[in-house]
Amino acid sequence: MNKLGLHAFVWTAGWNADDATRAIGRTAELGFDLIEASAMDYAAFDVAATRRALEANRIGITMSFGLTDDMDVSSGDPGRVAHGERHLLDGISLARDVGATHVCGILYSAFRKYDTPPTQDGIAGSVEVVRRVAEKAQASGITLGMEVVNRYESNVLNTARQAVRFCDRVGMPNVKVHLDCYHMNIEEADIAAAITQTGDRLGYFHTGDSHRGYLGSGSIDFGCVFRALVASGYAGPITFESFSSAVVGQPLEGILGIWRTLWDDSRDLAAHAKLFTDAHLHAARQAWRHVPDAIDPD
Ligand code: MN
Repeated sequence: MNKLGLHAFVWTAGWNADDATRAIGRTAELGFDLIEASAMDYAAFDVAATRRALEANRIGITMSFGLTDDMDVSSGDPGRVAHGERHLLDGISLARDVGATHVCGILYSAFRKYDTPPTQDGIAGSVEVVRRVAEKAQASGITLGMEVVNRYESNVLNTARQAVRFCDRVGMPNVKVHLDCYHMNIEEADIAAAITQTGDRLGYFHTGDSHRGYLGSGSIDFGCVFRALVASGYAGPITFESFSSAVVGQPLEGILGIWRTLWDDSRDLAAHAKLFTDAHLHAARQAWRHVPDAIDPD
């Protein structure tokens, strides 16, 4: 069965002891199985408070990281590649220390709008870095998710098919494809086909609507998304991600392009996302039972 998660930015952009305790407690209260925490500044991440709150509330944690331009592991520039690798390896140490099961996000390039396509050498260098980071992650039982994002956030992995090829080149069992239907809605020709064709390479999934607000209040066909997840036998985490300027300020507002306040009640947004996801998953599993010769996805 899929574990359902909630991105911590629904509650807070910071992660001191109070932020961690509050965000984890509220996420557990709503019935989620895990929280996804992002850290830009590792030193500001309170590991002890996070572990205490996770244990007290009996939920799990996953983490997502990003790389700035001076850490671009796809740049082909030895200094920036080495800087990015160090940052990713330190991120794995942090993830290990908090007991994370998955580390996901744009781990293969900078998070930025590029002006040119990637180079073959740049991608080859990124593959090598991800392989070494995956070796360290594997020792702690951590799965890496290569998040496929839209063209304005990276020039390396914009489609599921590119990500499957990238993961094949890395060649590590704990390096998987991370799909996000917000990004897929921009880049994929057919969202359901992209999910089913990724098949057992899929290791992490983000839900988010076309405008990253309330699930179901945008233009994404979630019936189609959840049926494809069930049909492909996906059993990994499904995490809801939504951003509002009511919670996150700079620099995240600028990085993520949050220019509108799409919601201001975190609890209502998250409670609705949990109900919406449960209902869609249940419906998709029922639909699958009625597909002729269906294999039980559980
Ligand atoms: Mn995402």
